[in-house]
Amino acid sequence: MSSQKPTLVKCPQCKQDVIWSEQSPHRPFCSKKCQMIDFGEWADEENAIAGAPDMSDSDGWSEEHHS
Ligand SMILES: [Zn+2]
Repeated sequence: MSSQKPTLVKCPQCKQDVIWSEQSPHRPFCSKKCQMIDFGEWADEENAIAGAPDMSDSDGWSEEHHS
């Protein structure tokens, strides 16, 4: 009489419980929506790395004025 417990994982996006089985085609995400959000964030990160941060406005450390 052992009842098999379904494996539950947490959706990385909304922290909802997701049943790890064929009934959750988007696992570990709860839905396609959460899967797309996650993918979008990582695509943004890639873009951020490709474009160097603008450092031209850092406190003029190369300028020294003595009066
Ligand atoms: Zn979710």
